Amino acid sequence: MAQVTEQQILDALKAVQDPDTGKDVVSAGMVSGLVIKDGNVAFALEVDPQRGPKLEPMRKQAEKTVHAMDGILSVSVVLTAETTPGQTPQPQQMQGGHAGGQSTGHGSGKDMIPGIPGIKHIIAVASGKGGVGKSTVSVNLALALALDGHKVGMMDADIYGPSQPRMMGLSGQPKTNDGETLEPMENYGVKVMSMGFLIPDDTPMIWRGPMVMSAIQQLLRDVNWGELDVLVVDMPPGTGDAQLTMAQQVPLAGAVIVSTPQDISLLDARKGLNMFRKVEVPVLGIIENMSYFACPSCGHRSEIFSHGGARKEADRLGVDFLGEIPLDIEIRETSDGGHPIVVSKPDSENAKVFRQIAERVWAKLEASEAKAMPKILVQ
Ligand code: ADP
Repeated sequence: MAQVTEQQILDALKAVQDPDTGKDVVSAGMVSGLVIKDGNVAFALEVDPQRGPKLEPMRKQAEKTVHAMDGILSVSVVLTAETTPGQTPQPQQMQGGHAGGQSTGHGSGKDMIPGIPGIKHIIAVASGKGGVGKSTVSVNLALALALDGHKVGMMDADIYGPSQPRMMGLSGQPKTNDGETLEPMENYGVKVMSMGFLIPDDTPMIWRGPMVMSAIQQLLRDVNWGELDVLVVDMPPGTGDAQLTMAQQVPLAGAVIVSTPQDISLLDARKGLNMFRKVEVPVLGIIENMSYFACPSCGHRSEIFSHGGARKEADRLGVDFLGEIPLDIEIRETSDGGHPIVVSKPDSENAKVFRQIAERVWAKLEASEAKAMPKILVQ
């Protein structure tokens, strides 16, 4: 069947009118970020934030119109708020199809992820601060999901210190077949894209806000991910504006927060949680990393950092506790050496901890997909 073209979709959309102005959505310049892939179509309709809720019928009509066309398998349309020229973009306002068609559209389920048809779930692995093992957890979680038979990709959004290439034992540069999209690198059955592949190790980069967003959008959207069950996004550490904007602009099905027990009050973890709540991304749960010390010679378990804080805090905050990972030299050596524990010793106790966490995460994703409903995120 011939692939439907952008022009054919725009022609069809001329039948959809803005109820307030009577103008069609194409002439009014509202359509942005149109992406077509194998019969899956996604785009955004840029609207005035105040009118968002009222325009849901228009959004639905646009979806129905495209769906009725020949050769269309799925359509997802989201309403996004436009940034008024000259206005300093606030995180909540940096929506719209300006950088490769980004738009907001949280929620799980293939049809809910605008711009990246073919990816079923995108999850973020986040932490309130650096050095808590967020990247180690991302990598082992992605590998454990792949070991369970899922099609997995991993995006290293930690552009300040990309560590995925090293942890995944990958080097070199990604190729492009069409001059536009990059082919992800691959190892241990997981597809990976990282800024670490694109800039040399010794290049100090100073990232400014808008650059962060466009880099992340490119890593996400200008990559030929193919069909994925889950894309694990290793977030930049912290909870600043860049992270908030990112949490909002990447169509996340959920987030996992990594914390260590040293931070007894888990203030940082709480900030992470609030950040995702603010942008309506469901928090799938908290993971306590470096939870206790497992002695490599005698196997004795020492709880040197008042272990258990994250579990209690998760309870208090009403979030699920996904598991505790020991502080173990084996975990460090294997991931830093490019052979993460989940693939180098899949039957070890340490690998089992990650595999159980992966199972819990997957079950939650499937459960949330079942009840996902379209949402308008215009504020
Ligand atoms: P982040 O991404 O939060 O900055 P990393 O994943 O890069 O943190 O981890 C920081 C360092 O701690 C790395 O050297 C990593 O191998 C090590 N590390 C992480 N988790 C553990 C663990 N559970 N046991 C031992 N070392 C760990």
